[in-house]
Amino acid sequence: MLNSRVTTSLLQQPASAAIRRAFISSPPSSFLSSPLVRSGPLRFPTSAPSLLRHCSSDSHSSSSSSPSSQPSNPNSKIPNVANPASDKSTWRTMAEKDISRYLRQTHDRVFEHNRAWAAEKKKADPDFFANLSAGQTPEYLWIGCSDSRIPAEQITGLEPGDAFVHRNIANLVCNTDLNVMAVINYAVRHLKVKHIVVCGHYGCGGVKAAMSAKDLGILNPWLRNIRDVYRLHEKELDAIKDEEARYNRLVELNVIEQCRNVVKTAGVQQSYAENSFPIVHGWVFGFNDGLLRDLQIDFEGMLKDIQKIYNLTES
Ligand SMILES: [Zn+2]
Repeated sequence: MLNSRVTTSLLQQPASAAIRRAFISSPPSSFLSSPLVRSGPLRFPTSAPSLLRHCSSDSHSSSSSSPSSQPSNPNSKIPNVANPASDKSTWRTMAEKDISRYLRQTHDRVFEHNRAWAAEKKKADPDFFANLSAGQTPEYLWIGCSDSRIPAEQITGLEPGDAFVHRNIANLVCNTDLNVMAVINYAVRHLKVKHIVVCGHYGCGGVKAAMSAKDLGILNPWLRNIRDVYRLHEKELDAIKDEEARYNRLVELNVIEQCRNVVKTAGVQQSYAENSFPIVHGWVFGFNDGLLRDLQIDFEGMLKDIQKIYNLTES
């Protein structure tokens, strides 16, 4: 199989220590309690984002420094952002000027990081950006969840240019979603990716939300795709008594179902008939150890099954 060595090494690679630390210090929050799906007026979060933990020295917020502020790194020029919720205060009790400063700092730090990253890349390889600008030939198309805790490149060690990435809530591949259909078509027909990965994750808030009885407004039609997965596998899922285990299995079944949806596309079927690639993979990321699990879907068997009804190989 093409690039099996690379794929295997990716699967064996744990998330970076920094990512693991972030998971440990920032337990997954409920999707349903996030501002994304909370009804009513938009409010600031009641706790500061976990990304603040990676900030270093602060040249702008000395007035707000307190014993509970994050430790600073004198070797870095990247400004620290004091955690406004570290003393259990909430955003709503903060002075307007403090909110304003916090927003400016969380904006500015991204540019500071970007400048540091660009300088580091250029130092390691003076031709790095010239090579990037020459074009892309990624090996992988990654279809993952929008969840901020699962950045495709960081958990796999992939570099810029290695993966074409599409992410949405609960890593769905819907045939009426022009976005994902355009991404798959372009990745397969033009970029000629060798692997298509659908990557879900345990603890997926989107999947959990789909199992609730709540009316989630505009998310209803999107999450109904997951309810459909449940219906297709109702017997198996209902037989799992432990709620967490049932929910984890639904995450896996959802990934497998989305792999089927990828295989149903004309681009994938025609490219495979012609080139023997791409191969479609279903993976799941676990927060407990930062590792990817390969669901070992039988791609060829799946393709054969699907083509009984969804054969689109004749152009
Ligand atoms: Zn998710």
